[in-house]
Amino acid sequence: MLPYGRQSIAETDVEAVTRVLRGDWLTTGPAVGAFEAELARWAGGVPCVSVTSGTAALHVAYAAAEVRAGDEVITSPLTFVATAATAALLGARVVFADVQPDTGNLDPDAVAALAGRRTRVVTAVDYAGHPADYDELRAVADQAGATLVADAAHSIGAAYKDRPVGSLADLTTFSFFPTKTVTTAEGGAVAAADPERHARAARFRNHGLVRDPAEQREPDVGGWHQEVHEFGLNYRLPDVLCALGISQLRRLAGFRERRRELVSRYNVLLRDVPGLTLPAQRAYVSPSWHLYPVRVRDGRRREVYDRMRAAGIGVQVNYVPAYWHPVFADLGYRRGLCPRAEAYYAEELSLPLFPDLTDAQQDRVVETLAGILV
Ligand SMILES: *Cc1c(COP(=O)(O)O)cnc(C)c1O
Repeated sequence: MLPYGRQSIAETDVEAVTRVLRGDWLTTGPAVGAFEAELARWAGGVPCVSVTSGTAALHVAYAAAEVRAGDEVITSPLTFVATAATAALLGARVVFADVQPDTGNLDPDAVAALAGRRTRVVTAVDYAGHPADYDELRAVADQAGATLVADAAHSIGAAYKDRPVGSLADLTTFSFFPTKTVTTAEGGAVAAADPERHARAARFRNHGLVRDPAEQREPDVGGWHQEVHEFGLNYRLPDVLCALGISQLRRLAGFRERRRELVSRYNVLLRDVPGLTLPAQRAYVSPSWHLYPVRVRDGRRREVYDRMRAAGIGVQVNYVPAYWHPVFADLGYRRGLCPRAEAYYAEELSLPLFPDLTDAQQDRVVETLAGILV
């Protein structure tokens, strides 16, 4: 089965990992800081904290934003459930705002209509790798006194109005799962410009431990002394995986370019196929395409999904609206809440897109899809 996404691992990646395996530090060593420094360069110079997954990154970001029980977190339903689940786990009430019909990104006007006194965080999702409308989202978040979070699991390396993803929100989260643009097998990171938030993120990732005597309540106990002031978890990304991250980031420009090329080819090759809506792109963004999301009109998405899979082409659907998951349904979230996200979901189909996809493989995807739809 041709997958919808997969990692690209070169010999240089393998060598980077084995070098660390033969060294002294499997975790908490020098590769961690080196990876975070490389990441910060992609994030417009904003300091980064590496963690064990994109999900951990969201959990850490919400903790750094001081999300507490009873706070509201407004986000898009057109995302992987982790964007909302991690806020719910901190006791927040998740408020779903609808998306723009063409990009599938969080609609700033929909957020404005829902924002209020209890809104602690607004979380945008750069769907498919296309940055959301950050100027408008910033205005809405500021107006509500809320922290702006970007779930950039799809969009590392992308830019909005010439500003890189990582520098657009107060806190930005990345995922390094194998289907994403850069991989560490499992992994993630949080970019935080504010030193306080950055420190809180770094502490939460490491059990909440306070090791600097200047910050301890009892600094004179002895060299072994450490304190926990707020609960945290162990979300540390090991050196073995950070080394893979460093070598993958060296390839990020190439990954972005090949993905861009494949998206351009899809746009041309699928232009005249009936019953398809191709992904939109705003003039002022430079996406890092993670997905190639087409929409299959006329109620034929299920049929096309099944027939593509039967032909050995591993298409995917991104995403079931988050509040359709039974865990949210059981909390009282009703279908129909965000009609534009539901309409997008009903037609969405992600075609194979990854750097090592060959032109010939892509041609086969296009011919199979056209054969079904004509
Ligand atoms: C992949 C993804 C996540 C979760 O990342 P993991 O590394 O798989 O935990 C969160 N949000 C979005 C939008 C994603 O695509």
